[in-house]
Amino acid sequence: MKILVCVKQVPDTNEVKIDPVKGTLIRDGVPSILNPDDANALEAALTYKDENPDTKVAVITMGPPQATYMLRECLAMGADEAYLLSDRAFGGADTCATSTTIAAGIRKVENVDVIFAGRQAIDGDTAQVGPQVAQRLGLPVVTYVQDIKLEEGKAIVHRQMEDGYEVIEVQTPCLLTAVKELNEPRYMSIGGIVNAYKKEITVWNHEDVELDPKDCGLNASPTQVFRSFTPAPKGKGEMLEGTVSEMAVNVLNKLREKHYI
Ligand SMILES: Cc1cc2nc3c(=O)[nH]c(=O)nc-3n(C[C@H](O)[C@H](O)[C@H](O)COP(=O)(O)OP(=O)(O)OC[C@H]3O[C@@H](n4cnc5c(N)ncnc54)[C@H](O)[C@@H]3O)c2cc1C
Repeated sequence: MKILVCVKQVPDTNEVKIDPVKGTLIRDGVPSILNPDDANALEAALTYKDENPDTKVAVITMGPPQATYMLRECLAMGADEAYLLSDRAFGGADTCATSTTIAAGIRKVENVDVIFAGRQAIDGDTAQVGPQVAQRLGLPVVTYVQDIKLEEGKAIVHRQMEDGYEVIEVQTPCLLTAVKELNEPRYMSIGGIVNAYKKEITVWNHEDVELDPKDCGLNASPTQVFRSFTPAPKGKGEMLEGTVSEMAVNVLNKLREKHYI
């Protein structure tokens, strides 16, 4: 079996701070990390490989050349192959153009049985790329996968719902998006880190994946970010006074005033 995992390098949003004077984001010194949900997706693939050693696990990303560091991390965790889609023509992509490019890259990787993605990236935060890639490849997709059993020709997954889960059987090839409840991602091993530097990373540009520049990046993005800004900090909280029942009535009235209830 061959499992391909879509991985994204993202800024560690826990480390992003806001400049109190200018009100802008401080990005300097913010480390780049493997997107957390993608680490769960990779772990699911590697767990299957542990139990079925003839499995090949590949990772693919679209990003700038620096994304090779994250790909090496994936190789050090145990992935066998890594693909980097990197080209100026891919820049400025919204989710629509991103998924076009990733799907074009996946078409070049042969004999893939299962494609994994994370549910969501912590920077763009849209959760759109996985389902869009599946749609472009004409594959079934199951999102929010919190448990999985892979068998020959099919996957049986638990799809997370707000109040429980659905059990879904889906034929392979298919695309699955992972949530953090799926597993606990492993750390890189020392041997894995050494081996990761011996493995080659395949880099593809738009010609390699047979995409015209007009069909990728900003040129193929139906949406554009018009303005971005730091949200205004919340005002000071209001302390209520009175007896417990007076405060409860007060809270109810305030919620009604704002049409929350
Ligand atoms: C309206 C809009 C305009 C944008 N304009 C720009 C822009 O001008 N310039 C710019 O740099 N970005 C731009 N972006 C951000 C860019 O679209 C996203 O970074 C990218 O499309 C991924 O979307 P996401 O981060 O929401 O991923 P999600 O959809 O939340 O990611 C889900 C999963 O898809 C996979 N995935 C996502 N991205 C990648 C990737 N690059 N490689 C491999 N796998 C991936 C991962 O498995 C991830 O866990 C824009 C986004 C929007 C919504």
